[in-house]
Amino acid sequence: MTVGNLTTSKQKTMSAAEAVQKARDTFNRGTTRPIEWRRQQLKNLLRMYEENQNVMVEALHKDLRRSKMEAILLEVDYLINDLRNTLHYLDEWTKPEHPPKGFVNILDEVVIYNDPYGVVLVIGAWNYPLQLLLLPMAGAIAAGNTVIVKPSELSVACSNFVVENLPKYLDNDAFIVFEGGPQETTELLKQRFDYIFYTGGTNVGRIVYEAATKNLTPVTLELGGKSPVYVDNTVDIVVTAKRILWGKFINVGQTCIAPDYVLCTKEVQNKFLEASKKVLKEWYGEDPQKSPDLCRIINNRHFSRLQQLIESSKNKIAIGGCYDSNDRYIEPTILANVTPADKVMEDEIFGPILPIVCIENAYEAIKFINEREKPLVLYLFSNNGEVLSKFIENTTSGGMCINDTVMNMGVETLPFGGVGNSGIGAYHGKKTIDTFTHKKSCLKKNFAAIGEKLASGRYPPYTEGNLKFITALMKKRHGPSLKYLPHFVAFAVGAAISYGIFAWQKMASDDS
Ligand code: NAD
Repeated sequence: MTVGNLTTSKQKTMSAAEAVQKARDTFNRGTTRPIEWRRQQLKNLLRMYEENQNVMVEALHKDLRRSKMEAILLEVDYLINDLRNTLHYLDEWTKPEHPPKGFVNILDEVVIYNDPYGVVLVIGAWNYPLQLLLLPMAGAIAAGNTVIVKPSELSVACSNFVVENLPKYLDNDAFIVFEGGPQETTELLKQRFDYIFYTGGTNVGRIVYEAATKNLTPVTLELGGKSPVYVDNTVDIVVTAKRILWGKFINVGQTCIAPDYVLCTKEVQNKFLEASKKVLKEWYGEDPQKSPDLCRIINNRHFSRLQQLIESSKNKIAIGGCYDSNDRYIEPTILANVTPADKVMEDEIFGPILPIVCIENAYEAIKFINEREKPLVLYLFSNNGEVLSKFIENTTSGGMCINDTVMNMGVETLPFGGVGNSGIGAYHGKKTIDTFTHKKSCLKKNFAAIGEKLASGRYPPYTEGNLKFITALMKKRHGPSLKYLPHFVAFAVGAAISYGIFAWQKMASDDS
């Protein structure tokens, strides 16, 4: 186990306890609190992305045979844009907030301070090995925390990139890369953190959650699950097929929000299959294995899991179905007339296999979805407003995307996260910095005599009169906002004084 806490050439071995202690000491010294310090670290990180774009693209190619287009759009540029956005709003997002206040606090200051939690642990997953690790880390830095990042051991090239480069750009006492697999992560999880952000499968998510409860550490768990797609007969089927297949086959289905299965009528299934055949040929040619645009499966374990799914569904293959273990290649595959009992419907597929389950109507689809774990995303393809409302009102999912797939992730003002088995908490855009921020509320009073006089009725000896006065003062009123009352009073006093001076001058000139 190594820790990239120095430079590439001078890596030092450090235990989990030592790494956390180092990060805690740095936090306790107050190093990470000043906004300007955070801004500088974020700018350094941006420089790391900009100076190493090609290196990052190469690492993604090594791990997943990711194409340049997908590497740039889904990881490198995604990280750069997120960071630019955070830098732009850093002051606004970190400054103290002044929420509305009631009549009883009209003379007081009511403030919410944005406090960093302290030492944050970010555990990344292999499928988007840079984005899923570095984007939450940037949010934790922006919020003023120290961070320990743990890249996935399965995406080796990307993990190496992070170990070698992060220490060259970021403060080594505040931001520490901790490499390793389950054993090292278990050691890390024995330590006390102030926040844990985990991305990965639900089973390990449970282990992380259990470890966090020992210290009552707050968590974000970005998990997975089966994200369904409902398609009805009101849509443009060719565009629908393109949007579903793109979301399914980017990163060859190894995407947490990849459409997992399609629910539609038999009639729609036939049209969808016909359109999909043409689309896939257009995209990947006669032999998709030769296409440079299709990624490969991360490792042999995941490859044989997917191979078994294809083997168990042999009689349902409508498109594709080939694979090559030497290349860890699996052809984009669509299965027709799949039943809920089929193996492919048990767990999240996380590969380029798309089953279609036929249902009679939207009601049956809603029932089907509600009988299973709450999905990370629910995809709907329909032009019928009533049908869409039925799904919106009667299903629960981390998020929804209507008439497209995956693109919801690109909207930074939409919180991204699961619900139930698909996760706890959310991030992206402002929500990322808020995730790593404790909202510290504060009521600030002064010693002005008028305030003390008004509130003195709360002191003993208690009387009926004081009780009436205080309850009247505290009664919730929902009239116009009192936010501008002090300004209004100041304006009224100013106007009264001006009027007094004017009247006095007029009287004086009339007298003379
Ligand atoms: P993974 O194998 O990379 O594991 C995730 C992390 O957990 C890694 O850092 C790994 O080292 C660690 N880990 C593994 N076993 C552990 C153990 N026993 N104890 C402690 N830590 C352990 O990723 P994965 O789980 O194969 O990822 C795939 C899953 O992640 C899918 O279910 C996918 O849907 C989900 N996912 C979710 C999101 C999201 O944003 N919601 C994003 C990507 C992936």
